Amino acid sequence: RKLVGKLSTGCVEFNEMMGGGIDTQAITEMYGEFGSGKTQVAHQLAVNVQLPKEQGGLDGSVIIIDTENTFRPERIKQMVEGLSEKYGQEYDYEEFLKHIHVARAFNSNHQILLVDSAMELANELKNSDKPVRLIIVDSLTAHFRAEYIGRGTLADRQQKLNKHLHGLQRFGDLFNACVVVTNQVMAKPDAFFGDPTKPIGGHIVGHTATFRLYLRKSKGDKRIVRLVDSPNLPDAEAIISVTTAGLRD
Ligand code: ADP
Ligand code: MG
Repeated sequence: RKLVGKLSTGCVEFNEMMGGGIDTQAITEMYGEFGSGKTQVAHQLAVNVQLPKEQGGLDGSVIIIDTENTFRPERIKQMVEGLSEKYGQEYDYEEFLKHIHVARAFNSNHQILLVDSAMELANELKNSDKPVRLIIVDSLTAHFRAEYIGRGTLADRQQKLNKHLHGLQRFGDLFNACVVVTNQVMAKPDAFFGDPTKPIGGHIVGHTATFRLYLRKSKGDKRIVRLVDSPNLPDAEAIISVTTAGLRD
């Protein structure tokens, strides 16, 4: 078993809450309402993973499985410019974009298959100067939510999600990579979908994800990140800011 790596979020409190950063060889689930900042954190991690270890990175590249078409290269550019500001050093955002491998998932079956493609790519890059050290699925659950409606299909959905998560965990173990997934919850119960104030996938995602982070909006650009039911860390909260330059304390 390889030594667990830590990927910096770029935020002191957030890192401390996670025992240094986001763990490799583990699934970290970010859940929260629309606009709570899940995709922003995902973009920032896609940038940070490429940094050298001294700057909290893993000297790696990233694969993003984008199911809602929310990946924005322009956002990466802003965050890389933010890094230049933070470290007083020039970074080339084109270089960063080159090491972000984005795949659109058109439905849940396709999404599951993309993990196999990700394995192939990660194998190819294994001995390169930027091995894959992070895989992001944003959103993990959107297609599943849309496709499996009604009670009869719930067991089916859980089984598929479970299989998907096991594939992702395997990816994390094989490549000593961080696995970060997002899961949207709604503010109010919705009769159509049952109780979406609880993360979809509920217990299955709950038991498989090693770290569960509940994100919610606070004043202005502030977001509260709550670590929920971690196996080895206390429940805690960290406050972060989502700024144009990226995540800040
Ligand atoms: P989620 O994925 O949880 O639905 P997002 O991560 O997309 O939410 O968060 C969207 C929020 O991020 C916006 O409401 C805004 O507050 C912030 N945001 C997005 N882009 C920028 C930007 N370029 N500069 C500053 N804040 C931004
Ligand atoms: Mg999002």
